[in-house]
Amino acid sequence: MLDYDLHCHSAVSDGLLSPSELVARAAERGVKFLALTDHDDVAGLNEAEEAAAGHGMQFINGVEISVSWRSHTLHIVGLNIDPKYSPLAEGLHGIRNGRGARAQLMAESLARSGIGGALEGAYRYADNPSLIGRTHFARFLVESGHCKDVASVFKNYLVKGKPGYVPHVWASLPDAVSWITGSGGVAVLAHPGRYTAGRKKMGSTTMRELLREFVDLGGRGIEVVSGSHTPEQYAEFARYAKEFDLLASCGSDFHGPGESYRDLGRLPDFPLDCRPVWLAWGLK
Ligand code: AMP
Ligand code: MN
Ligand code: MN
Ligand code: MN
Repeated sequence: MLDYDLHCHSAVSDGLLSPSELVARAAERGVKFLALTDHDDVAGLNEAEEAAAGHGMQFINGVEISVSWRSHTLHIVGLNIDPKYSPLAEGLHGIRNGRGARAQLMAESLARSGIGGALEGAYRYADNPSLIGRTHFARFLVESGHCKDVASVFKNYLVKGKPGYVPHVWASLPDAVSWITGSGGVAVLAHPGRYTAGRKKMGSTTMRELLREFVDLGGRGIEVVSGSHTPEQYAEFARYAKEFDLLASCGSDFHGPGESYRDLGRLPDFPLDCRPVWLAWGLK
């Protein structure tokens, strides 16, 4: 079992726990090295770092940036970033700015399908209103009895072709990678097994084009062990890591008790021959 967890969310984005609650849970579950990677915001890092010090845990500043690439939404994790680096801070601010108008359009789309009150409903779940997003709408749709759980929301709502879906343009891939690397961090392609083309997984040709571009821009890592990957996908993305000379990262992508595929600190070891991302910052 790995004692690193380099991808998780607090209530600063769409997680359920405060940064210090999240750190306490990770500590209880045996995590020794933790990165907090909230979506498009770094506001939880100070609190998490202080809490981690109290638990004798090594803390890594992280972020998960929303990116539009071709017709896809991708997530790029930045690890060991400097949250004060102004292009990064300003870039993230720009992404957050688009979320309010998107939320308004999402609520209008749901209202056209007969679901009222979604905007206010979603904001009730958003501790950080500037980070309003689909998870907060999903929690409202569960609370209001339209869906049995968050997972079923993402089958029937908020995704392409379903009520509540609103196309959105996020950061560009070159911008996201340069904000991360410019701040001294390592850019990591998050949960590559999650990206789809229509109802199918992203094909290997597109995946290779993406990885080539990502590496040429300065991207250095790929999530091999992710809470949303199957064991077959650990092996698949370990092969891509080798092919593109990328460092392997691991993270639960934990959002909250009962809402995530995997809890904190429950990650199996990397497949053989992966080079762990922590080699990039001198940890063993
Ligand atoms: P947003 O950035 O507002 O588009 O919201 C994206 C978030 O929605 C992701 O970070 C996940 O937390 C959540 N999400 C997306 N797809 C799913 C899914 N199939 N099941 C559960 N949560 C999902
Ligand atoms: Mn999320
Ligand atoms: Mn993600
Ligand atoms: Mn995530």
